[in-house]
Amino acid sequence: MTGVDVTMSAGPLHSVVVPVFNEADGIAAFHERCAAALTAIGNRYEIIYVDDGSRDTSWARLLAIRDGDTNVRLMRLSRNFGHQIAVSAGIEHAGGDTVTVLDADLQDPPEVIAQMVDAWREGADIVYGVRTARRGETWFKRGTAKLFYRTMRNLADVDMPVDVGDFRLLSRRATDSLVSMPEHHRYVRGMVAWLGYDSTSVAYARDSRFAGESKYHLVKMVRFALDGILSFSLRPLRIATWVGLLASIAAFAIAIVLIVLRLFGDVPVQGWTSLAVLVLLSSGVQLMTIGMLGEYIGRIWTEVRGRPLYLVRDLQGFSRDDAARRLHTRARRLGPDEDIERRG
Ligand code: UDP
Ligand code: MG
Repeated sequence: MTGVDVTMSAGPLHSVVVPVFNEADGIAAFHERCAAALTAIGNRYEIIYVDDGSRDTSWARLLAIRDGDTNVRLMRLSRNFGHQIAVSAGIEHAGGDTVTVLDADLQDPPEVIAQMVDAWREGADIVYGVRTARRGETWFKRGTAKLFYRTMRNLADVDMPVDVGDFRLLSRRATDSLVSMPEHHRYVRGMVAWLGYDSTSVAYARDSRFAGESKYHLVKMVRFALDGILSFSLRPLRIATWVGLLASIAAFAIAIVLIVLRLFGDVPVQGWTSLAVLVLLSSGVQLMTIGMLGEYIGRIWTEVRGRPLYLVRDLQGFSRDDAARRLHTRARRLGPDEDIERRG
């Protein structure tokens, strides 16, 4: 059913945002399945592909897909900005009454969107996809993911749902709220949890990748996890304070013991090992804490520069209305005061 223009029929519009980074091998199959799943819902839809600076033939393939289907909109970022920014860019350009984020690798089945839309019709603003099973992922990835979601839940200041990825549906209201959050270190799933509103979830089994390989290798995963924790919690800072306090108390107690031993006991010259261990330990803890402080300061610095989140190199398939909407979105990002200034 791809290629059928359903924009003329009435009813809600469903936007699907798909971040694409080097997915040339699987993108055509993805589109076919996604378009079929959306057509089955029976409302209008648009699929917004965000090419996140792919270095393979993804963009050419996307253009071909666009030629065969008027429900497709294409965005090409000026370089690779990363998954979370690509998702944000797509959401900002989506005009639907619902906006769903879906990865291009068919790990998250597009057919689940129909269930999400049902939940939205029943009044939910946010519908999370919850992974009940992860097929084709190593025990290491499953294990670290599990550990990460649990840690996050304990550390974060907002109520973070567990085992929830970026596959989720947002209502128009939730989308607008998300777009109004200007932060640069975007941990989108945490930001969505912060929104509040009524949320519900749809369970699904996560498949293995259809083609290509995961772009999240270990280092990237650690950085992602750090981003999540540091953007959503000040608790590491507090932990540092507590560790420092405990260390000081321990040092004080040990000092008293040593002084007593020195005065009343018979202590020959020894204890180099314990000294060395203590010095190493305390300087280690200090450096780590400074590093952590640095992480927060670095984040302040990126926010303060206030650069745009991403740059767009090419837009295809967006209409005049879409352009007006984007302007509107940008005005909203600037905040109500600036908006009035611009108009006046
Ligand atoms: N992706 C992206 N920019 C990046 C890395 C990934 O837009 O820098 C896209 C990728 O094409 C895919 C989605 O984000 O559609 C999720 O990436 P991936 O499947 O590699 O992550 P995983 O599912 O392994 O966590
Ligand atoms: Mg994937």
